[in-house]
Amino acid sequence: MTDSSFVNDVMETVVARNPGEPEFHQAVLEVAESVAVVVEKAPRFAKAKIIERIIEPERQFIFRVPWVDDKGDVQVNRGFRVQFNSAIGPYKGGLRFHPSVYLGIIKFLGFEQIFKNALTTTPIGGGKGGSDFDPKGKSDMEVMRFCQSFMNELSHHIGPDTDIPAGDIGVGAREIGYLFGQYKRLTNTSVGVLTGKGIGWGGSLVRTEATGYGLVYYVTRMLHDLGKDWKGQKVVISGSGNVAIYATQKVHELGGKVIALSDSGGYIVDEAGVNLDTVRRIKEVERGRIKEYVQAHPKAQYIEGWQGIWSVPCDVALPSATQNEIDAAAAQSLVNNGCVAIGEGANMPSTPEAIAIFHENNVSFGPAKAANAGGVATSALEMAQNSMRLDWPFEEVDNRLKTIIDAVYNQCTAAAEAYGMKGNLMAGANIAGFVKVANAMMAQGVV
Ligand code: NDP
Repeated sequence: MTDSSFVNDVMETVVARNPGEPEFHQAVLEVAESVAVVVEKAPRFAKAKIIERIIEPERQFIFRVPWVDDKGDVQVNRGFRVQFNSAIGPYKGGLRFHPSVYLGIIKFLGFEQIFKNALTTTPIGGGKGGSDFDPKGKSDMEVMRFCQSFMNELSHHIGPDTDIPAGDIGVGAREIGYLFGQYKRLTNTSVGVLTGKGIGWGGSLVRTEATGYGLVYYVTRMLHDLGKDWKGQKVVISGSGNVAIYATQKVHELGGKVIALSDSGGYIVDEAGVNLDTVRRIKEVERGRIKEYVQAHPKAQYIEGWQGIWSVPCDVALPSATQNEIDAAAAQSLVNNGCVAIGEGANMPSTPEAIAIFHENNVSFGPAKAANAGGVATSALEMAQNSMRLDWPFEEVDNRLKTIIDAVYNQCTAAAEAYGMKGNLMAGANIAGFVKVANAMMAQGVV
C-alpha cells in the first residue's frame, strides 16, 4: 500500500537532521507509512513540501532549570518546550517530568500531538515539553521550587492564545498548581495558560478522568464493531497513574474487570478485580508503590518487573504507562492468550513489530493518537470554559467528551476505508489527522 521511496526519503531526512532520537524517528515512520498513499493521490501536498515542513518543529526551546533542594544543595535540570505545529490553533500538549526525558522524547510526543489534536475536532495545534527532573522521592517544597524555576523560563514562551501546556507523566494536579501560581505571579494575569488546573481555580470537571474515560469510550466502539461490549471482559492495564486509574474506573462501571495494574517496579494481579479505592489511596494520596496493594489484598499477587504484565491472560489490554512497553514478544503473548482488543492509553506504547503482530492476527488495535485523545480534547474544553469565564457541570463535559471520541473514531474508520485500508484504525488516525493539518497548512501559505 505504501510508496517505499517516499517513506525512505522522509526517513533519510529525519534521521540525518535529528540524529540520536530513535523515538522521534519511530513516530515519523509510522505516520509516513500511513500517509504515503495520501501524498501519492494529492501531488499538491508534495509540491508544497507539506511533509518536509510538518516533520520540522516550528520552534524549540531548551533551557537550564536550577533549583535548591531541601539540604540547601543546588541542583540543575534541563527543560524543553517544542512548539511543533500551529496550523489549526495554538500549540497544545503536556509537560513530562521523568529522568528519561531528552529532546527526542519531547519531539516524538510533540509530533504525535499534532495529529491527535487535529482528530479531536477542537482548534488546537501540537506541542510538548518537560524536563529530566524526577518528582519521585522529592518533597512538596522541592517540587514547588523546581516548578517555579521551570516556569521562570517557560513563561516567556507560552500564553493562553500561544501555547497552553498540561500534564503528562510526573506532572499532575500538584505540579500544575505550582506552575500556574508562578505564571500568575510573573505575568500578573489570571488566564487559562495551563490545563489540568484544580476545580475551583479554573479547572474543568472531567479533565482528571478524561484520558482514561476517553480511552474506554474509544475501545467501547472497537468492541461494538466486534459484536462485543465490556460485560465480563478481563482487562489488563499497565501503569497505575492518571490514565490507568480512570480507565480502570470506567471499565468497572461498564461491567468489565481489571485484573492487573503496574508501575515501573512491577505488577499486581488480582483475579477478583482490582480494588480501585486501595490503588487510589496508594498512588494518589500516599504516592506509594503498587506492590503495597497486596498488604491490603493478600489474595492478590505482586510480581517484580513491569514487562511481565503482558503475559497475564486477558480479553482487552490497555497499555497506559509509557512508550515501547509492548514489544514483539509481549504482543505475541497477548495474541496467544486470546486478547481481542488493544487500546493505547500511553503514547506509542507498542513497537512497530508489536503493531504488525496485532494486525496480522486480526486483533483490534486502537492507536494512541486516537484512543487517548480524550485528555487533550477535555483540555480544549477547559480552555473554552476559561475564555467564557464559565464552569460546565460534570455531565455536560462528559457528554462533550463522548461526542468527541465518537467523532475521533468515525474519522479513523472513514479515512481507513477511503484509502483502501478498512478496519486499520492506525492508518485511519494518521491519515485523518494529517489531511486536516495539511489542508490548513496549504491554505496559510509557506510559513
Ligand atoms: P502518571 O505519571 O500519572 O503515571 C504513569 C504510570 O506509568 C506510573 O504508574 C508509572 O510508574 C508508569 N511508568 C512511567 N514510566 C514508566 C517506565 N519507563 N516503565 C514502566 N512504567 C512506567 O502518567 P499518566 O498516567 O498521565 O501518563 C501515562 C501515559 O499516558 C504516558 O504515555 C502519557 O504520555 C500518556 N497520556 C497521558 C495523558 C494525560 O492526560 N495524563 C493524555 C494522553 C496520553 P512509576 O510511578 O513507577 O514511574
